[in-house]
Parts: sequence; C-alpha cells; structure tokens
Amino acid sequence: MAMDEQDTIAVIGAGVIGAAVTLALAREGRRVMLLDRAAPGVAGASFGNVGHIAAELVQPLPSPALLFGFWRELVRFGGALDLPPSRALGMLPWITRFAAAAFRRAENTQHLAPLVLPAAAQWSAWLEAIGRPDLLRRQGHYEIEFGARGHAVMQAQALAMAQLGVKTRPVSAEELLPLQKAAGADMSAGLWFENSAHVIDPLHAVQAFTDAAIASHATFTELEVRSLRARGDKIEILSEREPLQVGTVVVCAGMGSEALLAPFGLHAPLQSVRGYHVELPGHAPFLDAPVVYTREHTLVTPMDGRLRASSYMEFAAADAPADPRKPAALRKTVRKLGYACDPEGASWVGSRPILPDYLPGIGRAPGPAKLFYAVGHQHIGLTLAPITAELVADLVAERTPRLPVAAFDLQRFGAAAP
Ligand SMILES: Cc1cc2nc3c(=O)[nH]c(=O)nc-3n(C[C@H](O)[C@H](O)[C@H](O)COP(=O)(O)OP(=O)(O)OC[C@H]3O[C@@H](n4cnc5c(N)ncnc54)[C@H](O)[C@@H]3O)c2cc1C
Repeated sequence: MAMDEQDTIAVIGAGVIGAAVTLALAREGRRVMLLDRAAPGVAGASFGNVGHIAAELVQPLPSPALLFGFWRELVRFGGALDLPPSRALGMLPWITRFAAAAFRRAENTQHLAPLVLPAAAQWSAWLEAIGRPDLLRRQGHYEIEFGARGHAVMQAQALAMAQLGVKTRPVSAEELLPLQKAAGADMSAGLWFENSAHVIDPLHAVQAFTDAAIASHATFTELEVRSLRARGDKIEILSEREPLQVGTVVVCAGMGSEALLAPFGLHAPLQSVRGYHVELPGHAPFLDAPVVYTREHTLVTPMDGRLRASSYMEFAAADAPADPRKPAALRKTVRKLGYACDPEGASWVGSRPILPDYLPGIGRAPGPAKLFYAVGHQHIGLTLAPITAELVADLVAERTPRLPVAAFDLQRFGAAAP
C-alpha cells in the first residue's frame, strides 16, 4: 500500500532550482515536500558554481560562429572546451540539435532574454523577502582582456551587448591598473556590466531558500528517488522506502532529471558539461566584483572570506573521475593573473545540465498527472532560479505564467523512447 499525500507537492532535487521552487510554492501556502539524495545544495552544480548573477548572458550559446569556429575554443588550442571525439560520436543527436539551434539564435534569445535581464533585481527582491540581503552584492561584473587586441575586443563586445539591451561602460585606466600590474601586462581593456551581481556563497543561497521554505511549513527529506510512475491522476514516488503517492511532482533534479521524466513521455536530452573551481582562501579581490578574464576563459568571484576561480566546459559523464590536469592548469592561470594561489590544493568539479538548444526545460507533462519540471538551466541556473520558480508556481496554480513558457516545453525534443 502506498502512502497517500494527495495535497502534497513533491519537489525532487534540492539544488538552487528545486530550493527556489519549494520556496515559491511554500510561500503560496502549498504543502511542499523537498526531496534530495543529499543535504540541500551540496550534491549538484549549485554547490560549486561561481556565483555570478549573469544578467548579460541573454543569448543561448549555440551560434553559427561557434559551430564553424568551435575548434578555436578547444583546450588543445588554449580554449576552455574539452569535447573528446569518442564522446562527440555518442552525442551526435545532441550535436545535431545544437547545430539546428545555432541558426535559431535570434529567436531563442527572444525567449531567454526576458528571464535573464531582470535577474539581479529579482535575486535582490527574493533575498530581501527572506531577510538575507547579505548574500547578494550588486556591484555588476567586469570583463577584461590583456594585450593589444583588448580595446577592439571590448569595443565589439560593448556594441553587441548594447544591441541586446545590456548596459556596459568602459573600465577606466585607473581601475584597470591593479589588474594589469598583477598580471604583468602592458595593455588592457575592460567593460563593466552594471546590471549583473554575485552571491557571496552559492551553497548558503540554497540553504537560505530551503530554510525560508521550511519556515513556511515545507519539509525536507533525504531520499534517493528511483523512479516516478503515473497512477491515474496521482504520481507514485519509488525509492528504497515504501512508495509514496502525491498529487503533484516538480522534477528539478539537474542531471538526474532525464530518467525521472521519461515515464511521462518526456525526452530531456541533457548533456553534462562540467566546470571546475579552485578557491583562494583569505585572498582580497583586485576589483570588488566578479572578473571575467576573456582570453584566459577564467572567472574570479569574490566570495565570503575567499575568491573562487572557475573555468572549463568539459563534455564528460557526470560521474566520471575529475581530470586533475584541469584544476592544476586553472591554478597556473590564476597565478599568472597575479593571484597568490598554491600550485596544488583542493578543487571541485560539477555538471551543468544542458539541453541542446541551451534553453531551459520549464513546463508540465502531457496527460492527467500533475508532473511539472524545471531542468536544463545550463551555465545560468543560479541566475535563473527565482524567475524559474515563479514560472513553476504559476504553472502549478494554473495561472497564466508571468512570462511566456511555450518555448521551454520539453515536447520540443519529441517523446521519450518507451
Ligand atoms: C563550474 C560552474 C560554474 C557555474 N557558474 C555559474 C554562475 O556563475 N552563475 C550561474 O547562474 N550559473 C552557474 N553555473 C550553472 C549552475 O550552477 C547550474 O545551472 C545550476 O546549479 C543548476 O541547478 P539545478 O538545481 O538544476 O541542479 P543541481 O544543482 O545539479 O541540483 C540537482 C539536485 O538533484 C538531486 N537529484 C538528482 N537526481 C536525484 C534523484 N534521483 N533522487 C534524489 N535527488 C536527486 C541532486 O542530488 C542535486 O542535489 C555554473 C556551473 C558550474 C559547473
């Protein structure tokens, strides 16, 4: 006999997306049960991201320029992309969809941009509402390029950003000087992005959302969900414990989402694109906001008591062993940029959950079961957590979503194989 919790909404996955969804639903007075195989925020990408509220990343990544010039981005040519040919072969359907999306970039930007542009203000409002404004700093971010090409690169970037409605201003020579001196560079150019922000600890942000949800009567249970099954208009959650029947489920399980959604006919072709981070405890920042070093493909964010530096787009299975060469090279880069960074030390690797068109999956499964999902938030899941949660709350309440979500329906990838 399954335990019956008809009025309960089970949210599966306590990363930043699931934690935000739980909070949005709990604040509307719903009975919410958050489930994860580990404590909130620790097991997935939400633990180790680099804290940037990336209100400038309004364009999905696939573009004709990347399609034809991707080799320039490969690690072996000094880039951040590691796509081994053996892995690419097994990914042909994903790559084909990525290629098709490259030619729909303008259209897909129209869908994504409204979610991304207000992200810093939205984060601010969310953290104010739960009494934790201390977790967010609205100091924008910087993009910096050293060397003779810097000015041209930044001018082109400023123009491209202006066309997308993203405000930037050139960084003054005075502000650039500490960075330039630290890196031993003769020339540099930079842009400051006023509408981005950063969180000073991504794990604490997830914990703050979860704590606030629990204060609004949500619960958290550590549970590995084996599978989900439709039972008429209810959904059964199968695990090592006795089956549980609930009226509504929201799947926010990052890389674990594809298998959970398949029984509902939904195909979520998620790729794991891994990134690494290393930390510099006690290190003061050169500028008081995240700095993107464009040529070095490295982002350094000031966090609580430390700096966190991140890089790489490694196409590898989520559970594959970490490649020790990458954090070692990242430490070397960070040292070259003038930071005091030990050549060896701890590092972290995690998977960005990515759908081939780089749009998230937000919607409801077809059929009578109330099965919702919020998956595939690629490089900007932290950025998009509050708006995604608001959209899911709209869908669960059967209100017209505050922004159009049709483009995020997973049915764009066809049905899952039975
Ligand atoms: C190096 C790096 C840097 C990044 N930097 C940024 C950044 O600066 N800004 C930004 O906006 N984004 C950034 N991102 C992306 C961002 O971290 C992700 O998009 C986001 O964390 C995804 O959140 P999520 O909740 O969907 O997934 P996750 O955080 O991966 O959470 C999924 C959760 O589901 C649980 N789960 C899965 N399957 C099951 C199951 N069967 N049963 C129970 N639990 C399950 C997992 O344990 C996990 O806790 C970065 C990512 C990386 C890797």
